[in-house]
Amino acid sequence: MQWVGYAELASAVSNAGGLGIVRKANLCPYNDTNYAQLTALTQPTPEDLRKEIRKTRTLTKKPFGVNITLLPTMNAPPYGEYAQVCIDEDIKVVETAGNSPGPVIKLLKSAGIIILHKCTTIRHAASAVKLGVDFLSIDGFECAGHVGESDITNFILLTRARQSLGVPFIASGGFADGQGLAAALALGAEGINMGTRFMCTVEAPIHINIKQAIVDASEHDTELVMRRWTNTSRLFKNKVSKEAARIEKTSPTGKFEEIAPYVSGKRGREVFINGDKDFGVWTAGQVIGLIHDIPTCHELLTRIENEAIEAVEKSRKVFQPQSKL
Ligand code: NAD
Repeated sequence: MQWVGYAELASAVSNAGGLGIVRKANLCPYNDTNYAQLTALTQPTPEDLRKEIRKTRTLTKKPFGVNITLLPTMNAPPYGEYAQVCIDEDIKVVETAGNSPGPVIKLLKSAGIIILHKCTTIRHAASAVKLGVDFLSIDGFECAGHVGESDITNFILLTRARQSLGVPFIASGGFADGQGLAAALALGAEGINMGTRFMCTVEAPIHINIKQAIVDASEHDTELVMRRWTNTSRLFKNKVSKEAARIEKTSPTGKFEEIAPYVSGKRGREVFINGDKDFGVWTAGQVIGLIHDIPTCHELLTRIENEAIEAVEKSRKVFQPQSKL
């Protein structure tokens, strides 16, 4: 949700009853836990994040959060300064993700901020619990962007989380509808986290061609790159991601610099502005195969809620004695 999680989308998700994160969006079926988030690194500087937070407040009275992702980048951002802005601006929930989040989590926790930490393995989830995070976003291999290196899908990962983690968790990766929400609840999650599905909404501040590319895509249209550098990322399959994958497989040197111009976030940002899906790389989950329309956030969340209720009712009938059917 880099370059997507701006004030417009985060506020629309929160206004529709989700939790908009300035970067991602989560949906929990309990009103008091619903919120929306901004993505910190979508803002070029900590001061820009401050402005985006203030803008979001003019667009929604509902809670929203901020995402801070700590992964390899071509220009290391001042993570501590972004975290300090969250504290100064009285943000209640921050979603952290990525490597060595300890110092940022410690700083945010010292200010009483609720921490949602996103991770792709139970081992990382357990470490985050030790760091004192309040809840977890368990991110299956289906997800968009940084999938981790273990390739465990949500059927296994969510059940493992239920069996072994002592804190609440939401399910992330592969969710686009109410049937998915009902399944996540059945497996032990408190709700779902959606990124790609919200990219394909009226309010997502990206070019309509990209939303249409998602609608037209199937679940086969993603590409995994950067495994060679232990930084695997799931991208929309296009000319640039295919070329990056080819160089990764065939390069004799294994130097990251060879694919850096292809996977650059700057080029990906242009895609969302100019609408050329082949201009650079952009992240998308396998869930693109389940997305067939471009609703408003309100229409989407209402539909998901109704579908989830219908799915739960239907499953209850399965367990009724034959005579009552
Ligand atoms: P960028 O342009 O600096 O880098 C592009 C990609 O190359 C990113 O995926 C980055 O992780 C990777 N990368 C950079 N240097 C690397 C190195 N030395 N070794 C291995 N991989 C390297 O990044 P950006 O697109 O501007 O994004 C900024 C930050 O946000 C990055 O940390 C990126 O990973 C993160 N991000 C995360 C997600 C997600 O799924 N959580 C999605 C988008 C961006």
